[in-house]
Amino acid sequence: APSPKQQERVKANPPDPPLPRQNSKTTPPSPPKVITDKHRGLDFHRVGFLGEGGFARVYEVKDVRGTRLACKVVTKTSLKTKKAKTKLYAEIKIHRSLSHPNIVRFQDCFEDDDNVYMTLELCHSGSLMDMLRRRRRFTEPEARFFLVQLIGACNYMHTHQVIHRDLKLGNLFLDSNMNIKVGDFGLAALIENPGERKKTICGTPNYIAPEVLFDTANGHSFEVDTWSIGVILYTLLIGRPPFQTKDVKDIYTRIRDNVYEFPPERRISADSRDCITSILTPDPQQRPTLLEIIASPFIDLGIVPPFIPLSAHDAPPDFR
Ligand code: ADP
Repeated sequence: APSPKQQERVKANPPDPPLPRQNSKTTPPSPPKVITDKHRGLDFHRVGFLGEGGFARVYEVKDVRGTRLACKVVTKTSLKTKKAKTKLYAEIKIHRSLSHPNIVRFQDCFEDDDNVYMTLELCHSGSLMDMLRRRRRFTEPEARFFLVQLIGACNYMHTHQVIHRDLKLGNLFLDSNMNIKVGDFGLAALIENPGERKKTICGTPNYIAPEVLFDTANGHSFEVDTWSIGVILYTLLIGRPPFQTKDVKDIYTRIRDNVYEFPPERRISADSRDCITSILTPDPQQRPTLLEIIASPFIDLGIVPPFIPLSAHDAPPDFR
């Protein structure tokens, strides 16, 4: 504690007020309360904050008709480098080209002096990651339901030459009817020539396919999304990702050596284990296709519920 003398000094000579933070990455200035798309003559009222990711902040907005949307805001100060601009343009180009019931709908993009804005379909109910935190793990029928929708979206992307490259629970949003909406195309890649291989090492450690990390000469392609789907299925049923450890380096070693286990106390079915094991095949050419996963005994012989009740946000539903 400061001595009485020091306290006196503080009183007599108060410190300068803190300088306003400049170029602070943590707290960029808020976008205006009313965001205007000048060219289309549209106003969006900012009504709430939804979350932030690597380089964007996402707000809930209302258009003039009262329709609620998500608005992803990227500050122009974060777009100073050519690389950052190219990355954002790629995300916009890819995302706006996609239209599928299980992919977050891209509405528009526009800019003002300070920011670039993307208006997106609003996903009211958070992500599967948020839901997993509350539920700890999901039942097999729920996992089948989510997997079928995810594979539908992924198959659509792949037929449109798009690799998502960052499929994970945090990027699988839920709409108000518990349907999956794949979002965040920030790492997506467009395959412009058949047979083209991608070389950029990217993804999220727990979900990253071995060929992305260890076959950098050869590159990677659509099968990296299949791998992530295997990691997602494991995580839904077991409650944590298969290669998880504290140290990222150890995660990579485990991915390289294909080291993961099924905790016996979880008692998941043999069909679900077989499905996960076949997807988590290190050689991308030996991995099942998306259609083969749909035709696997786990999906084909099990209950796929027609919908998930809202009560599932907090407690396991009974599908008998
Ligand atoms: P980044 O590309 O910077 O990682 P994201 O697209 O992942 O940003 O978005 C960051 C956060 O904003 C998400 O984790 C989520 O909480 C929220 N969010 C993003 N898109 C939506 C949406 N369409 N509806 C509701 N919330 C969203």
